[in-house]
Amino acid sequence: MKFSHPEADVLVPAAGAPAEAALRSVTHLCVAAHQDDIEIMAQSGISDCIGSPGRAFGGVVVTDGAGSPRSGAYRSFTDEQMIAVRRKEQREAARIGGYAIQVQLAHPSADVKKPGHPGVAADLDALFAGCAPGVVFLHNPADKHDTHVAVLLRCLEAIGRLPQERRPARVLGCEVWRDLDWLPDADKVALDSGRHPDLALRLLEAFDSQVAGGKRYDIAAVGRRSANATFNASHATDGPAGITWAVDLTPVTRDGGPSLRQFVSSLVSRFGGDVARRLEEWA
Ligand SMILES: [Zn+2]
Repeated sequence: MKFSHPEADVLVPAAGAPAEAALRSVTHLCVAAHQDDIEIMAQSGISDCIGSPGRAFGGVVVTDGAGSPRSGAYRSFTDEQMIAVRRKEQREAARIGGYAIQVQLAHPSADVKKPGHPGVAADLDALFAGCAPGVVFLHNPADKHDTHVAVLLRCLEAIGRLPQERRPARVLGCEVWRDLDWLPDADKVALDSGRHPDLALRLLEAFDSQVAGGKRYDIAAVGRRSANATFNASHATDGPAGITWAVDLTPVTRDGGPSLRQFVSSLVSRFGGDVARRLEEWA
């Protein structure tokens, strides 16, 4: 399996399995911008596949991680050293999480932000053509991290280049940098990220260069899941112990569907309407 960047990395944790077959087996695919995004946004997909015959999780990280923040023991690391550390951490997470395949495309963030970058487009085309997942986890279009939004756009472009019948059955945009609690309840997809809590923590702790370097994603991601579950419904007391919110982007991937901008504007205006309605009702 060959990708366009010379530093691209493919790991198949199960010994002896060819990469093409591992990719083909993927039922739950997450394509994210950076090392550790998968473990923050797609814990429910990882959980769905753990110990479930016939299900397989695939992770794709599009960028090289060169721009990662660094402090503490990592303070003096060069970009090259950071790239190497983050690649190793992502490989370790894939092993811990029992992924069928982990691909790291190693593109500089600036290339991903260029619409039509041939290497990025060719790699994503090959990945989406090489599997037929029932669900794809992507970044959400209201995320405030530019690279996350760029990766989402490149993925939607690649999905749009597939024949309609080959497009994933379900495409979800998941929260990382900006949560999705603001979405009106009817527009929210609750991903159960409260299962396998020990595994979830180990996955987040695999990214020592971030966690020990001062970005406590281990505490923050688990805390947000727990907060989402608790603040989900004011009266109910049961339900998942952790929720990751997502928005169903499938309509955007269908011929004749809304553009991403139309789709997001409609969500934002429904949110505005929900706030205004309550203020009016109780004034
Ligand atoms: Zn990220």
